[in-house]
Amino acid sequence: MFCKYCGYENTDDASICENCGVELNSIHSEDASMYTDKRNKILLVAVAVIILGVVIAALITLNYSQPDKADPRASNLVCPYCGAGLNTLVAVRENTTHIKWYCQYCDYTWWEPIS
Ligand SMILES: [Zn+2]
Ligand SMILES: [Zn+2]
Repeated sequence: MFCKYCGYENTDDASICENCGVELNSIHSEDASMYTDKRNKILLVAVAVIILGVVIAALITLNYSQPDKADPRASNLVCPYCGAGLNTLVAVRENTTHIKWYCQYCDYTWWEPIS
């Protein structure tokens, strides 16, 4: 094996470098633990990324399913485009006379006079 410190080629069973006297085995085990450390850090980052991904996915799902509470003003409405009803319709804008509805099913938006 090669000495990590001086590069001298020692026999494979040598425990001490013949050139500089460094303990070859201790260098080796130190390297191994450093390698494990690195791997653990990578694993930790990977786990963190996965958790973050799950949280973001959950947030997005939550956002999409947020209008669980159907707008009561949509109770008599259906989407003029696809015919979907109450639970898919969201009021996105409104003024004194009209409400702008958004259909989550087909992405259609339209103004509806307030009755
Ligand atoms: Zn050496
Ligand atoms: Zn629609």
